[in-house]
Formats: sequence, structure tokens, C-alpha cells
Amino acid sequence: MADPYAWLTPALATIHRAQWHRRVEPVRGRAGPVVTVGGQRVINFASNDYLGLAGDERLMAAAMAATGAYGTGSTGSRLTSGHRELHRDLEGAIAQLKQTEDAIVFSSGYLANLGAIAAVVGTRDVVMGDRYNHSSLKLGAKLSGATVYEFPHNDLGALTQWLQQHRGQYRRCLITADSVFSMDGDLCPVPELLAIAAQYEAMVLMDEAHGTGVFGSNGAGVVEHCGCTGQPMIQVGTLSKALGSLGGYVAGSGVLIDFLRNRAPSWIYTTGLSPADTAAAKEAIALLQTEPQRRAQLWRNVDAVRQILGQFFTLLPSDSPILCVELDSPTQALDLADQFRQGGIWVPAIRPPTVPTSRLRFSIMATHDLNHVQQFEQVSRSLSPRAKGKEEC
Ligand SMILES: *Cc1c(COP(=O)(O)O)cnc(C)c1O
Repeated sequence: MADPYAWLTPALATIHRAQWHRRVEPVRGRAGPVVTVGGQRVINFASNDYLGLAGDERLMAAAMAATGAYGTGSTGSRLTSGHRELHRDLEGAIAQLKQTEDAIVFSSGYLANLGAIAAVVGTRDVVMGDRYNHSSLKLGAKLSGATVYEFPHNDLGALTQWLQQHRGQYRRCLITADSVFSMDGDLCPVPELLAIAAQYEAMVLMDEAHGTGVFGSNGAGVVEHCGCTGQPMIQVGTLSKALGSLGGYVAGSGVLIDFLRNRAPSWIYTTGLSPADTAAAKEAIALLQTEPQRRAQLWRNVDAVRQILGQFFTLLPSDSPILCVELDSPTQALDLADQFRQGGIWVPAIRPPTVPTSRLRFSIMATHDLNHVQQFEQVSRSLSPRAKGKEEC
């Protein structure tokens, strides 16, 4: 009899041949703007910890206090033994930040998207998603059993045209988009999208994974930044990026959140968020309010790094702390990432199939200081194809 697992080796070889193979590398030291990777101290342009809160003493203290009070695990689903007052406190803090009636926390942002989408649409419905949406939105649409239509990136004209022709064939319609596109760094035109949705009786799920804590005068996200606070919509986000913890949330109307508590499988049938993660996220939300200077410093750093990169490389359009240098091939991206690494700069190469074109994806932190930025500039200058061209002349 043939080995039923024999296909794995050639399948992996195909991944290697395409330069698509990925592996993990341990990071040493506390989360922050400088970490140790492969025995080398590097400046960190690879993390989603935009505000530098993952290594903040106050979040750590909150996590430890919660662990001391409640233990490590939450021991069950929120509907059985796993619900603590701490969870409700966090949900209240999220709702207050987002200015929504209520909120619900999931064990990750990924699970929040899967659960919310599967709960609100089914086989008689349609989900329309931006082509550059995060994997969790795409998989959620597929799992829901609804008809799925992907529109070209940020092409609201194509979206409108499709709605005009096909909206009538479906019961409910859900439009999904990242508010900050995670692998490009550009923004969704939220007000325009909401206007189209209202016109065609469509729901909107806005994924604020990279917006929460970063955009808006209160750090509520791109929805706040665009002046769309209070408009009917399903807002999803994560506790694991700017908020420095782990977990995901959905914020919206009271009736939506109550419905999700009854119908979102990835909330009902999974263990509640751990006390440590819950307490850390709650502390982070408190700090968004008391330390707006973190956000201000983040944006100053984004401007500085964008200016440096733009001088030496070709940047993809971005309005966020995610800045991408576009490259022609996966090999080029891997090589340039290696060269940055030798210069003490840690930046990931993002390749297909995650993205359509290879790139280096820099993410900026509020806690990058002047020395970090100066070293970054020096290394960028030395690796710039433009600078090299000038030397040869
Ligand atoms: C990271 C991310 C998620 C998933 O969030 P996790 O909490 O890490 O599971 C969802 N959507 C987008 C756009 C993301 O970037």
C-alpha cells in the first residue's frame, strides 16, 4: 500500500522552488523596538506593537495581578465556566472607546471575523470583500456559506456596479474591508463605502486590526479618524497589535452583540480569553486615553521613516505606520531583507501568495527613538539602488 502522506515531500519541494517557503525564528528579549534575533541585536521594524505597549511594565503588572487573582486559564467557554467580570469590564472599555452600545471579546481577531461573518450571513446571502482583505475575512466569508464576490482593491465603482446588478438576488448583503490594509498600509475609504452600503441595504464589517489604538483623536481607529463614529456597522478589531495583548473584539449595537453571543460559533465553542490577556488589554485601552503622546510620537516616527525610505526606494502608497518597499521578485525581497538584517535592521520580506507582489514591510513603533531612526537612515542609504547608481557614475 502506498504511503498516504507521501505527497507532503513533493508538495513542500514545490513551495521551496517558488521561494515561498517560510520558517520561524525565535525572538529573544522583551517585546520592544530593539530585540535579539539569531544572536544579533536588531532594531525592530517587524512587529505590530505600534505603541510599544507589549513590553510596558503596566500591562505586565496588570497581567500578573489578574493571573494572581484568577489563575492562568479561564477554564471554559464564556457561556459555561469561563466568564469573569474582567471580561465584561474589557468589553465595556472597548464599547466606550468605539462609542458603540456594546462589544464582545473573542480569543483572537481571526476568530472574531470568522464568528461574526458566519453569524450574520448564510446561504441565501452575499459577502462582498475587497481583494486585499485579510485572510480571516476571506475565510469567514467562505465558511458562512454565502455567495462571495471580491471587488478590485478599493474600487468602489466596481462594488457599486455589482450591487446595482445583483443585490436583488440575495437576502442579506455584507460588505467587508480592512480599514488599514495589513500588507499595503493604505486605507479603506470608509465614509464612501458606508454611503454605498446604505444605498443598497448592505451591512458593513470594518476590520480595524491595524487601526485600533493608532488612528483617531481617541485612538478608536480609522472609523473615528474618518468621522464615521456612530454610523451603523460591525466593527472588528484585535487586542494583539497596538493594544499589546491577545484577543479580538466586535463592537456594534446592543442587539448585534447579543445576537453574536448566541450565534457566533467561534465565541460559543471556544475557551474565554485568559485573565492575563484580558487585564493587559484593558490596561492598554486605559493608556490610549491617558497617553495620547504615544500616538503623536508614532506619527512623527512614521513621517520620518517614510521620508527616509522614499528617498532611497520605491514605496507603495500608504497612510499608516505600515510602509512597504516594492520589489520585483521574492528573491530580491529576501536578499534585501538579509542586507538590512546585516545592518541591524529587522524587516520581514512579504511574498506571494500572501501578497500579489514581493515587498519589504516596515512597521513603525512609537518607541523607535532618534538613534534607531538614524541607524535606519544610514543602512537605507547604503542599500539604496539609487545611491549605488550614483556611485558608479
Ligand atoms: C492581524 C489581523 C487579524 C487577526 O487578528 P489576530 O488577533 O492576530 O488573530 C485580522 N484582521 C486583520 C486585518 C489583521 O491584520
